[in-house]
Amino acid sequence: MELDTSNVSSFKVDHTKLKCGLFVSRKDIFGSNVITTFDLRMKRPYHDEVMETGSIHALEHLIATYLRNDPLWGDKIIYFGPMGCRTGFYLLMAGDLDSQDILPLIERTFDFVSDYEGEIPAATPKECGYCVDMDLELAKADATMYYNVIINPKKENLVYPVKRERKKKEA
Ligand SMILES: [Zn+2]
Repeated sequence: MELDTSNVSSFKVDHTKLKCGLFVSRKDIFGSNVITTFDLRMKRPYHDEVMETGSIHALEHLIATYLRNDPLWGDKIIYFGPMGCRTGFYLLMAGDLDSQDILPLIERTFDFVSDYEGEIPAATPKECGYCVDMDLELAKADATMYYNVIINPKKENLVYPVKRERKKKEA
C-alpha cells in the first residue's frame, strides 16, 4: 500500500490561510492499519472568535456520542476531541480515508447537533471532569455555522492550504 502523506502533515499548514472545513490532518500507519486524523476546523484562525469552553465541551459530548453510535461508521471512530486553540476538533478514524468519504457522516452529525434538545450525554459529575461548563445553545449555534460550511464545501474547505517551499537563494 502506497500512501502519499507529503501534503497532509499539520506542521506544514499555514494557519493564517486556513478556512473553516473538514481536512485530513495526517495519516499514520501502524503495522497494516492506517489511522486518519481529520481536522474539523469550525472557526477560521485569527479571523473568527474561538469557541467558548462551554460550547466546545457540549459539542465534544454530543458529537463523540453521536459518532460512536453511527450505524455506518461507529466502529471506525477512535477518538474525537477539541483542539487546545478552540478553533475546532480532531477526529481519529480507522482506515485510509479522505474528507469526501466522511462528509455525509459529518453533515448528519452537525445537522443532529444543531437541532438537539434535551440532556447532554454523560454530563454528570460521575462521568465528566467539569460537567457544569456546558452551553447547549452556544454549541447549537456553532454547529449550525459549521454545518452551513460543510453542506456546500469548496475545495478550500476540504484541502489544506500548503505552504509554499521557499526558493533557495542562488549562490
Ligand atoms: Zn466532559
